[in-house]
Amino acid sequence: KNLKKYFPISGGMFAKVKGYVKAVDDVSFSIKRGTTMGLVGESGCGKTTIGKTILRLNDITGGTVTFDGIDIHGLDRKALRALRPRIQIIFQDPYSSLSPRMPVGEIIGEAVREKRLVGPEAFDDYITGIMKDCGLQVYHKDRYPHEFSGGQRQRICIARALALNPEFIVCDEPVSALDVSIQAQIINLLKALQEKYGLTYLFISHDLSVVEHISDTVGVMYLGNLVEYADKETIFDNPLHPYTMALFSAIPVPDPDVKTKRIILEGSIPSPADPPAGCKFHTRCSHCMDVCRVEAPVMRMVASGHQVACHLYTEGRRVE
Ligand code: SF4
Repeated sequence: KNLKKYFPISGGMFAKVKGYVKAVDDVSFSIKRGTTMGLVGESGCGKTTIGKTILRLNDITGGTVTFDGIDIHGLDRKALRALRPRIQIIFQDPYSSLSPRMPVGEIIGEAVREKRLVGPEAFDDYITGIMKDCGLQVYHKDRYPHEFSGGQRQRICIARALALNPEFIVCDEPVSALDVSIQAQIINLLKALQEKYGLTYLFISHDLSVVEHISDTVGVMYLGNLVEYADKETIFDNPLHPYTMALFSAIPVPDPDVKTKRIILEGSIPSPADPPAGCKFHTRCSHCMDVCRVEAPVMRMVASGHQVACHLYTEGRRVE
Protein backbone atom coordinates (compact mmCIF):
# COMPACT_ATOMS: atom_id res chain seq x y z
CA LYS A 1 0.00 0.00 0.00
CA ASN A 2 1.43 3.39 -1.13
CA LEU A 3 4.72 1.62 -1.78
CA LYS A 4 7.70 3.87 -2.48
CA LYS A 5 11.26 2.96 -3.26
CA TYR A 6 13.62 5.81 -4.08
CA PHE A 7 17.30 5.38 -4.88
CA PRO A 8 19.65 8.31 -4.17
CA ILE A 9 21.43 9.54 -7.27
CA SER A 10 25.20 9.30 -7.08
CA GLY A 11 27.06 10.05 -10.28
CA GLY A 12 27.25 7.85 -13.38
CA MET A 13 24.67 8.54 -16.10
CA PHE A 14 22.69 10.67 -13.61
CA ALA A 15 25.69 12.83 -12.58
CA LYS A 16 24.04 16.10 -13.62
CA VAL A 17 20.85 15.41 -11.68
CA LYS A 18 20.53 15.72 -7.93
CA GLY A 19 17.97 13.89 -5.85
CA TYR A 20 16.41 10.48 -6.20
CA VAL A 21 15.33 8.01 -8.81
CA LYS A 22 11.75 7.26 -7.82
CA ALA A 23 11.83 3.65 -9.01
CA VAL A 24 8.51 2.89 -7.33
CA ASP A 25 6.35 5.86 -6.47
CA ASP A 26 3.18 5.36 -4.45
CA VAL A 27 2.01 2.03 -5.82
CA SER A 28 -0.88 0.11 -4.23
CA PHE A 29 -2.38 -3.25 -5.14
CA SER A 30 -3.36 -6.52 -3.55
CA ILE A 31 -3.11 -10.12 -4.73
CA LYS A 32 -5.71 -12.63 -3.65
CA ARG A 33 -4.42 -15.91 -2.27
CA GLY A 34 -4.08 -18.62 -4.94
CA THR A 35 -4.13 -16.17 -7.85
CA THR A 36 -1.55 -14.60 -10.16
CA MET A 37 -1.07 -10.92 -10.73
CA GLY A 38 0.86 -10.02 -13.86
CA LEU A 39 2.94 -6.86 -13.66
CA VAL A 40 3.88 -5.41 -17.05
CA GLY A 41 5.69 -2.39 -18.44
CA GLU A 42 8.85 -1.40 -20.29
CA SER A 43 12.32 -2.01 -18.89
CA GLY A 44 13.14 0.38 -16.06
CA CYS A 45 9.51 1.04 -15.10
CA GLY A 46 10.01 -0.37 -11.58
CA LYS A 47 8.58 -3.90 -11.91
CA THR A 48 11.60 -5.72 -10.52
CA THR A 49 12.08 -3.12 -7.77
CA ILE A 50 8.51 -3.79 -6.64
CA GLY A 51 9.16 -7.55 -6.55
CA LYS A 52 12.35 -7.14 -4.53
CA THR A 53 10.86 -4.55 -2.19
CA ILE A 54 7.85 -6.75 -1.45
CA LEU A 55 10.22 -9.54 -0.40
CA ARG A 56 12.38 -7.09 1.59
CA LEU A 57 15.39 -7.71 -0.62
CA ASN A 58 15.33 -3.89 -0.78
CA ASP A 59 14.49 -1.61 2.11
CA ILE A 60 11.49 0.62 1.72
CA THR A 61 11.20 4.40 1.29
CA GLY A 62 7.53 4.58 2.17
CA GLY A 63 4.31 2.62 2.36
CA THR A 64 3.66 -0.87 3.68
CA VAL A 65 3.84 -4.44 2.42
CA THR A 66 1.45 -6.79 4.16
CA PHE A 67 1.56 -10.55 3.70
CA ASP A 68 -1.12 -12.60 5.43
CA GLY A 69 -1.60 -9.78 7.93
CA ILE A 70 2.16 -9.44 8.60
CA ASP A 71 3.89 -6.09 8.00
CA ILE A 72 6.99 -7.46 6.22
CA HIS A 73 9.12 -4.32 6.60
CA GLY A 74 8.22 -4.03 10.28
CA LEU A 75 9.68 -7.44 11.21
CA ASP A 76 12.89 -7.83 13.19
CA ARG A 77 15.64 -10.05 11.72
CA LYS A 78 14.56 -13.18 13.55
CA ALA A 79 10.92 -12.85 12.52
CA LEU A 80 11.98 -12.09 8.93
CA ARG A 81 14.11 -15.23 8.84
CA ALA A 82 11.16 -17.25 10.05
CA LEU A 83 8.96 -15.73 7.34
CA ARG A 84 11.45 -16.17 4.46
CA PRO A 85 10.44 -19.72 3.41
CA ARG A 86 6.87 -18.53 2.90
CA ILE A 87 7.86 -15.83 0.38
CA GLN A 88 10.20 -16.82 -2.42
CA ILE A 89 11.51 -15.48 -5.73
CA ILE A 90 12.40 -17.05 -9.06
CA PHE A 91 14.84 -14.95 -11.07
CA GLN A 92 15.04 -14.32 -14.79
CA ASP A 93 18.39 -15.90 -15.44
CA PRO A 94 18.61 -19.58 -14.52
CA TYR A 95 22.23 -19.57 -15.70
CA SER A 96 23.52 -17.22 -13.04
CA SER A 97 21.20 -18.03 -10.14
CA LEU A 98 22.52 -21.56 -9.58
CA SER A 99 25.83 -22.40 -7.96
CA PRO A 100 27.97 -24.23 -10.56
CA ARG A 101 29.78 -26.16 -7.80
CA MET A 102 26.78 -27.83 -6.21
CA PRO A 103 24.90 -30.88 -7.47
CA VAL A 104 21.23 -30.30 -8.13
CA GLY A 105 20.02 -32.28 -5.12
CA GLU A 106 22.13 -30.08 -2.86
CA ILE A 107 20.93 -26.89 -4.54
CA ILE A 108 17.32 -27.85 -3.99
CA GLY A 109 17.83 -29.25 -0.49
CA GLU A 110 20.34 -26.83 1.04
CA ALA A 111 17.83 -24.43 2.58
CA VAL A 112 15.45 -27.28 3.49
CA ARG A 113 18.21 -28.84 5.58
CA GLU A 114 19.29 -25.52 7.06
CA LYS A 115 15.76 -24.63 8.11
CA ARG A 116 15.04 -28.23 9.21
CA LEU A 117 11.81 -28.32 7.26
CA VAL A 118 11.94 -32.15 7.14
CA GLY A 119 13.86 -34.65 9.23
CA PRO A 120 16.97 -36.51 7.92
CA GLU A 121 15.04 -39.74 7.40
CA ALA A 122 12.47 -38.09 5.13
CA PHE A 123 14.87 -35.71 3.38
CA ASP A 124 15.68 -37.76 0.27
CA ASP A 125 12.08 -38.67 -0.44
CA TYR A 126 11.02 -35.07 0.06
CA ILE A 127 13.57 -33.71 -2.41
CA THR A 128 12.78 -36.47 -4.91
CA GLY A 129 9.08 -35.61 -4.69
CA ILE A 130 9.74 -31.91 -5.29
CA MET A 131 11.96 -32.74 -8.27
CA LYS A 132 9.29 -34.95 -9.79
CA ASP A 133 6.68 -32.23 -9.35
CA CYS A 134 8.98 -29.91 -11.28
CA GLY A 135 9.56 -32.38 -14.12
CA LEU A 136 13.08 -33.40 -13.04
CA GLN A 137 14.27 -37.00 -12.81
CA VAL A 138 15.76 -38.60 -9.69
CA TYR A 139 19.06 -39.25 -11.43
CA HIS A 140 19.42 -35.50 -12.04
CA LYS A 141 20.15 -35.09 -8.32
CA ASP A 142 23.85 -35.79 -8.63
CA ARG A 143 24.40 -33.73 -11.74
CA TYR A 144 25.63 -30.14 -11.92
CA PRO A 145 23.84 -27.10 -13.40
CA HIS A 146 26.08 -26.89 -16.46
CA GLU A 147 24.82 -30.33 -17.55
CA PHE A 148 21.28 -28.97 -17.99
CA SER A 149 19.50 -26.93 -20.65
CA GLY A 150 18.07 -23.49 -19.87
CA GLY A 151 14.55 -24.84 -19.36
CA GLN A 152 15.77 -27.58 -17.00
CA ARG A 153 17.81 -25.06 -15.04
CA GLN A 154 14.71 -22.95 -14.56
CA ARG A 155 12.93 -26.11 -13.33
CA ILE A 156 15.75 -26.49 -10.79
CA CYS A 157 15.27 -22.87 -9.66
CA ILE A 158 11.54 -23.48 -9.30
CA ALA A 159 12.19 -26.70 -7.35
CA ARG A 160 14.58 -24.84 -5.03
CA ALA A 161 11.89 -22.27 -4.27
CA LEU A 162 9.13 -24.88 -3.98
CA ALA A 163 11.15 -27.04 -1.58
CA LEU A 164 10.73 -24.36 1.10
CA ASN A 165 6.97 -24.84 0.93
CA PRO A 166 6.24 -21.21 0.01
CA GLU A 167 2.84 -19.58 -0.24
CA PHE A 168 3.84 -16.56 -2.32
CA ILE A 169 6.40 -16.46 -5.14
CA VAL A 170 7.64 -13.46 -7.08
CA CYS A 171 8.37 -14.73 -10.59
CA ASP A 172 10.70 -12.09 -12.05
CA GLU A 173 10.73 -12.57 -15.82
CA PRO A 174 11.14 -16.33 -15.29
CA VAL A 175 10.87 -17.28 -18.96
CA SER A 176 12.47 -14.28 -20.70
CA ALA A 177 15.83 -16.03 -21.12
CA LEU A 178 14.27 -19.18 -22.62
CA ASP A 179 13.25 -20.29 -26.14
CA VAL A 180 9.56 -19.78 -26.92
CA SER A 181 8.74 -23.52 -26.94
CA ILE A 182 10.38 -23.93 -23.54
CA GLN A 183 8.61 -20.84 -22.21
CA ALA A 184 5.24 -22.57 -22.63
CA GLN A 185 6.46 -25.62 -20.68
CA ILE A 186 7.66 -23.49 -17.77
CA ILE A 187 4.47 -21.42 -17.70
CA ASN A 188 2.38 -24.59 -17.69
CA LEU A 189 4.56 -25.99 -14.89
CA LEU A 190 4.01 -22.84 -12.81
CA LYS A 191 0.27 -23.12 -13.39
CA ALA A 192 0.22 -26.81 -12.40
CA LEU A 193 2.21 -26.10 -9.23
CA GLN A 194 -0.10 -23.25 -8.37
CA GLU A 195 -3.07 -25.58 -8.60
CA LYS A 196 -1.42 -28.35 -6.60
CA TYR A 197 0.06 -26.17 -3.83
CA GLY A 198 -2.34 -23.20 -3.82
CA LEU A 199 0.51 -20.82 -4.63
CA THR A 200 0.12 -17.09 -5.13
CA TYR A 201 2.29 -15.42 -7.79
CA LEU A 202 3.40 -11.94 -8.67
CA PHE A 203 4.43 -12.54 -12.29
CA ILE A 204 6.70 -9.81 -13.64
CA SER A 205 7.13 -9.72 -17.40
CA HIS A 206 7.37 -7.45 -20.40
CA ASP A 207 5.85 -10.23 -22.57
CA LEU A 208 2.13 -9.57 -22.74
CA SER A 209 1.25 -12.88 -24.38
CA VAL A 210 2.84 -14.74 -21.47
CA VAL A 211 1.11 -12.48 -18.94
CA GLU A 212 -2.24 -13.05 -20.63
CA HIS A 213 -1.73 -16.81 -20.37
CA ILE A 214 -0.87 -16.99 -16.69
CA SER A 215 -2.47 -14.02 -14.92
CA ASP A 216 -5.78 -13.51 -13.14
CA THR A 217 -5.24 -9.79 -12.66
CA VAL A 218 -2.87 -7.41 -14.43
CA GLY A 219 -1.15 -4.18 -13.40
CA VAL A 220 0.53 -1.89 -15.93
CA MET A 221 3.45 0.27 -14.81
CA TYR A 222 5.01 3.35 -16.32
CA LEU A 223 8.02 5.17 -14.81
CA GLY A 224 7.46 3.96 -11.27
CA ASN A 225 3.68 4.34 -11.22
CA LEU A 226 0.89 1.83 -11.59
CA VAL A 227 -1.28 3.35 -14.33
CA GLU A 228 -3.93 0.65 -14.80
CA TYR A 229 -5.12 -2.40 -12.89
CA ALA A 230 -7.95 -4.84 -13.60
CA ASP A 231 -8.72 -8.51 -14.02
CA LYS A 232 -7.09 -10.04 -17.08
CA GLU A 233 -10.17 -10.24 -19.30
CA THR A 234 -11.16 -6.64 -18.59
CA ILE A 235 -7.76 -5.14 -19.23
CA PHE A 236 -7.05 -7.13 -22.39
CA ASP A 237 -10.56 -6.57 -23.82
CA ASN A 238 -10.93 -2.97 -22.75
CA PRO A 239 -7.65 -1.23 -21.92
CA LEU A 240 -8.33 2.37 -20.90
CA HIS A 241 -5.01 4.07 -20.23
CA PRO A 242 -3.40 5.40 -23.43
CA TYR A 243 -0.13 3.69 -22.47
CA THR A 244 -1.86 0.33 -21.92
CA MET A 245 -3.63 0.73 -25.26
CA ALA A 246 -0.33 1.31 -27.04
CA LEU A 247 1.37 -1.55 -25.24
CA PHE A 248 -1.43 -4.01 -25.98
CA SER A 249 -1.78 -2.92 -29.61
CA ALA A 250 1.67 -4.44 -30.20
CA ILE A 251 0.51 -7.97 -29.30
CA PRO A 252 0.58 -10.08 -32.49
CA VAL A 253 -2.75 -11.73 -33.38
CA PRO A 254 -2.28 -15.19 -34.93
CA ASP A 255 -5.11 -14.72 -37.44
CA PRO A 256 -4.46 -13.06 -40.83
CA ASP A 257 -8.13 -12.01 -41.08
CA VAL A 258 -7.98 -9.98 -37.89
CA LYS A 259 -6.62 -6.53 -38.53
CA THR A 260 -5.37 -4.66 -35.48
CA LYS A 261 -4.29 -1.04 -35.38
CA ARG A 262 -0.83 -0.67 -33.91
CA ILE A 263 -0.41 2.45 -31.80
CA ILE A 264 3.14 3.71 -32.12
CA LEU A 265 4.39 5.70 -29.14
CA GLU A 266 6.34 8.82 -30.00
CA GLY A 267 9.66 9.46 -28.29
CA SER A 268 11.49 7.33 -25.81
CA ILE A 269 10.81 6.66 -22.16
CA PRO A 270 11.97 9.71 -20.12
CA SER A 271 14.79 9.43 -17.59
CA PRO A 272 13.51 8.04 -14.29
CA ALA A 273 15.88 10.49 -12.57
CA ASP A 274 14.16 13.46 -14.15
CA PRO A 275 10.61 12.46 -15.05
CA PRO A 276 8.17 14.93 -16.65
CA ALA A 277 5.88 16.97 -14.37
CA GLY A 278 2.20 16.12 -14.16
CA CYS A 279 1.36 12.84 -15.84
CA LYS A 280 4.71 11.14 -16.46
CA PHE A 281 3.32 9.79 -19.74
CA HIS A 282 2.29 13.19 -21.15
CA THR A 283 5.39 13.58 -23.34
CA ARG A 284 4.32 10.52 -25.36
CA CYS A 285 0.55 10.65 -25.07
CA SER A 286 -1.56 11.59 -28.11
CA HIS A 287 -4.49 12.46 -25.77
CA CYS A 288 -2.47 14.92 -23.67
CA MET A 289 -4.46 17.87 -22.30
CA ASP A 290 -3.29 21.01 -20.45
CA VAL A 291 -4.04 19.50 -17.06
CA CYS A 292 -1.81 16.51 -17.86
CA ARG A 293 1.30 18.72 -17.94
CA VAL A 294 0.82 20.04 -14.42
CA GLU A 295 -1.22 17.57 -12.40
CA ALA A 296 -0.35 13.93 -11.80
CA PRO A 297 -3.45 11.74 -12.24
CA VAL A 298 -4.35 9.42 -9.38
CA MET A 299 -5.73 5.90 -9.64
CA ARG A 300 -9.54 5.91 -9.88
CA MET A 301 -11.98 3.06 -9.94
CA VAL A 302 -13.75 3.45 -13.30
CA ALA A 303 -15.67 0.17 -13.18
CA SER A 304 -15.86 -2.73 -10.76
CA GLY A 305 -12.25 -3.75 -10.08
CA HIS A 306 -10.93 -1.62 -12.97
CA GLN A 307 -8.64 1.22 -11.91
CA VAL A 308 -6.88 3.71 -14.13
CA ALA A 309 -4.70 6.76 -13.50
CA CYS A 310 -5.52 9.17 -16.32
CA HIS A 311 -7.23 12.57 -16.55
CA LEU A 312 -9.38 11.25 -19.41
CA TYR A 313 -11.44 9.41 -16.83
CA THR A 314 -13.34 10.71 -13.89
CA GLU A 315 -15.61 8.71 -11.62
CA GLY A 316 -17.11 6.17 -13.98
CA ARG A 317 -17.06 8.14 -17.24
CA ARG A 318 -14.73 8.96 -20.04
CA VAL A 319 -13.95 12.58 -20.79
CA GLU A 320 -13.23 13.12 -24.48
FE1 SF4 B 1 -2.43 11.00 -21.51
FE2 SF4 B 1 -3.23 12.92 -19.87
FE3 SF4 B 1 -4.07 10.44 -19.50
FE4 SF4 B 1 -1.53 11.11 -19.01
S1 SF4 B 1 -3.34 11.85 -17.94
S2 SF4 B 1 -2.25 9.30 -20.09
S3 SF4 B 1 -1.16 12.57 -20.63
S4 SF4 B 1 -4.53 11.76 -21.26
